[in-house]
Amino acid sequence: MDTAAAGPDLVRTVADLRARLAPWRAAGETIALVPTMGALHEGHLSLVRRARELASRVCVTLFVNPTQFGPSEDFGVYPRDEDGDRAQLAAEGAHLLFAPGLDEMYPEDHVTRVTVPGIGDVLEGEFRPGFFTGVATIVTKLLLQALPDVAVFGEKDYQQLQVIRRLAADLDIPVRIDGAPTVREPDGLALSSRNAYLTPEERAAAPALFNTLTTVAKRAADGENLAGLAVWGNFQLKGVGFSEVDYVTVRDAETLEPWPGHASGRPGRVLGAAKLGRARLIDNVPV
Ligand code: AMP
Repeated sequence: MDTAAAGPDLVRTVADLRARLAPWRAAGETIALVPTMGALHEGHLSLVRRARELASRVCVTLFVNPTQFGPSEDFGVYPRDEDGDRAQLAAEGAHLLFAPGLDEMYPEDHVTRVTVPGIGDVLEGEFRPGFFTGVATIVTKLLLQALPDVAVFGEKDYQQLQVIRRLAADLDIPVRIDGAPTVREPDGLALSSRNAYLTPEERAAAPALFNTLTTVAKRAADGENLAGLAVWGNFQLKGVGFSEVDYVTVRDAETLEPWPGHASGRPGRVLGAAKLGRARLIDNVPV
């Protein structure tokens, strides 16, 4: 165990993780897991605070998961700051940090993948082939390694949250999956480690994603044509400088299939993804 630097105790192996969690569990403590890729910001810290309310012990994981990055994506340059992350976690009262190396999570002979067809194939699954298989595989591993009572994920990555709910139910993993609200800048931009890629001009344009999705949600609730709203959203984003709009769409909040409309009684969710400079931003709001 590494305790030299400030912050929660740090473990790097699954064996050490389990050795630290076992006595807590034996003493009747409840355990919350907060999986992250690091470069922590207020959004991540809000999950830690929520985890502290939901359980008596909080374990944060920090692993930049290579299997969820495509070959042309930003794995190599994804922001990394383990010491800074650990200091922030200390301030929030997290109890344990699990920051495994690549070989611990994916030893050379590791071949198994977890795939969630259907809900994992659309939207992000379509524009980032292999992404959800990478996410599902690493989250399944983390859940089985730590066996927490509850695991906290952000609604910021809304489809990811629903994919994780699906896999936990399908694989009978005895964990409660908790979804936490998105933390935003005062101008509406959702906090994201990737916002660091934005130039000042792009940063000024970025809140248009949230604003556009919010307007689409209102107009969808008023019964406007959904295909027309998607075209309108695309046009808005292109107009402020987004280079590619992967999607702006209204979906069923649970299945992520096309939203059948208010009369169905089903909750809807507006989701969007678009490129702005070097960054690809995603966001979502309820209808
Ligand atoms: P990441 O490190 O980007 O993989 O995110 C780790 C967790 O933090 C995921 O459950 C995300 O959904 C969540 N998260 C990221 N950004 C935010 C945000 N702005 N508000 C709330 N949760 C967030």
